[in-house]
Amino acid sequence: MIEQSLPALAKALATKEISSVELTQLYLDRIARHNPQLNAFITVDPARSLAQAHAADARLARGEGGPLTGIPIAHKDIFCTQGWLTTCASKMLSNFISPYDAAVITRFKAAGAVLLGKTNMDEFAMGSSNETSFFGPVKNPWNLTCVPGGSSGGSAAAVAARLAPAATGTDTGGSIRQPAALCNLTGMKPTYGVVSRYGMIAFASSLDQAGPLGRSAADCAVLLNSMAGFDERDSTSLDRPGEDYSREINAVTDGQPLAGLKIGLPAEFFGDGCSPEVMQLVEQAIAGYRKLGAETVAIRLPSMGLSVAAYYVIAPAEASSNLARFDGVRYGHRAPDYQDLNEMYSRSRAQGFGAEVKRRILIGTYVLSHGYYDAYYLQAQRIRRLIASDFAEAFRQCDVIIGPTSPSTAFKLGEKAADPVQMYLSDIYTIAVNLAGLPAISLPCGFAGGLPAGLQLIGNYFSEARLLNVAHRYQQANAWHLQSPAEL
Ligand code: GLN
Repeated sequence: MIEQSLPALAKALATKEISSVELTQLYLDRIARHNPQLNAFITVDPARSLAQAHAADARLARGEGGPLTGIPIAHKDIFCTQGWLTTCASKMLSNFISPYDAAVITRFKAAGAVLLGKTNMDEFAMGSSNETSFFGPVKNPWNLTCVPGGSSGGSAAAVAARLAPAATGTDTGGSIRQPAALCNLTGMKPTYGVVSRYGMIAFASSLDQAGPLGRSAADCAVLLNSMAGFDERDSTSLDRPGEDYSREINAVTDGQPLAGLKIGLPAEFFGDGCSPEVMQLVEQAIAGYRKLGAETVAIRLPSMGLSVAAYYVIAPAEASSNLARFDGVRYGHRAPDYQDLNEMYSRSRAQGFGAEVKRRILIGTYVLSHGYYDAYYLQAQRIRRLIASDFAEAFRQCDVIIGPTSPSTAFKLGEKAADPVQMYLSDIYTIAVNLAGLPAISLPCGFAGGLPAGLQLIGNYFSEARLLNVAHRYQQANAWHLQSPAEL
């Protein structure tokens, strides 16, 4: 059961081969057994999950089930969940029980999915290794001495270790795609505005986007079908006609399913900076795509090299503003001792935030301050525009852009923790996508030294169904995504 796809689980539930209560209990047992080692979950609440499973079984018995009814799904602890602890992996919110549900949670509830638990992450989603969590690092199920990637590392580790059939994540600069790559999963960052940010704790609002993490592109399509949609409570949510993201996956194809597809190979993705082992696997995957009928074209993304620098001005600037709300007044951590209001604020924040979050707040406040705004923030915004124009130009020559997701396979716990710049470079291939607001997907493309590597596909705005299809056709012809780590 634990190796099944979401459609297979839905079928098993519909035919009463298994009940939602049994399926949920199976995963709760696995969490109880393996989570002490992995630390993938911050909160599990078996009684609540099983109550939802009972309700799902009743709905299934009435014949009112949908593709996710009764299936347990793990959610990153950045999504507010009514009645559940919602910490964002920070001491600041370590006592915060959300009074309301994020839009994503409401949508999964409406679909009848079971909330299996809240997953560990980097504090306020700032990081690439899950080591900045107040609740301790997450281990990579492929090698317990390695990181699972971040910031959605708990979600990735949980799905890879089969403690959950699928999970949600959020991606501000790569936090769905990079952990997917490091844990042998498929993960998608949708076009900015496709999934509502309502109730998703804000890091950098103009970059943050929620998306699915699953074992295949087909599973991600099922998840995205439930997550996407207009929400008037998020002013950047896009009011577009509903889409079935599985439609191209389910379409019948012949021997050359990707005939006519033009794949762009940006020179900037194939130079220095990527480990030779990962690059070799990426090249093999490109050869695989040619066999499926795709043709490749050389393209350029000339401003790509500036993306990490621009991101580390814009994201901290927005974070410094978003995190101003955590002041110890209405909710969250409050310092026990203080003399006056100012000391209450400063002590609560000094105690509540970890080192990386403080670093971002300081950088962000600095780049927005009088005299530096023009030199840093405005320049970064200009670069952001150039990066978006690069992609617009590239998509005149190709349908999708291909490259590595991460420059290396999973690195050792502690290896980069002391060097923020090395850590920031983990996202060198993912960040430009967020700056441009484009959709992108990471999918497994092989192993180096026993650790998985990820292939990234980037599409034009609203090409999610196309991207999922291009990933799915590869997964029909190659079985990397079906490999699971050894039982712990
Ligand atoms: N690693 C990047 C950062 O630390 C991206 C994080 C994310 O996508 N949430 O900001």
